[in-house]
Amino acid sequence: MLGETVITHDEIQRAVAVLAREIDADLEGREPVFICVLKGAVYFFTALTQRIRHPVVVDFIQASSYGATTESSGTVTLIKDVTVDIAGKDIYVVEDIVDTGLTLADVVALLQARHPRSVQVVALLSKPSRRKVQVRLDFVGFEIEDRFVVGFGLDFAERFRNLPEIREFVPDGEATP
Ligand code: 5GP
Repeated sequence: MLGETVITHDEIQRAVAVLAREIDADLEGREPVFICVLKGAVYFFTALTQRIRHPVVVDFIQASSYGATTESSGTVTLIKDVTVDIAGKDIYVVEDIVDTGLTLADVVALLQARHPRSVQVVALLSKPSRRKVQVRLDFVGFEIEDRFVVGFGLDFAERFRNLPEIREFVPDGEATP
């Protein structure tokens, strides 16, 4: 069931504006390709890229998700690949949330193999206490504690993505009495 609001819509918008300014300053002289990791990052991705003043190329990639559980399986499969040639380009991977880091590590390795000039990571949320592999996050909106959240793109079994804020979600049977 849905729990309390962890980050309000206004707080998200303010963080996105700050991130966009930082990234814009970093874009001088680069040939950026912004890659949205579907589906969770899509709301963050559109909000962020619309606030970036430099011209950017956008593309989409989809890796396997949790399905109907709240734990990562640890094996990531590619469902949809990017369509642009990223060789020699400056890549900004845009993620909704970095939890264990397994998904991101795989996505970054896959992109690195195509010889981009650089790969940087932009994440709306990070749960540092859950990390299983070390991944470098270049731009982060919020660090949160170990709780499962939904909204602003994040789902539980494909639901709640369109919530404008980020809320805790407690699967049935796990609620504290
Ligand atoms: P990781 O591979 O870092 O463990 O997990 C990354 C993916 O798991 C995210 O892109 C997201 O789809 C999903 N995920 C991790 N934590 C959460 C969470 O708290 N809520 C939701 N809805 N998805 C999560």
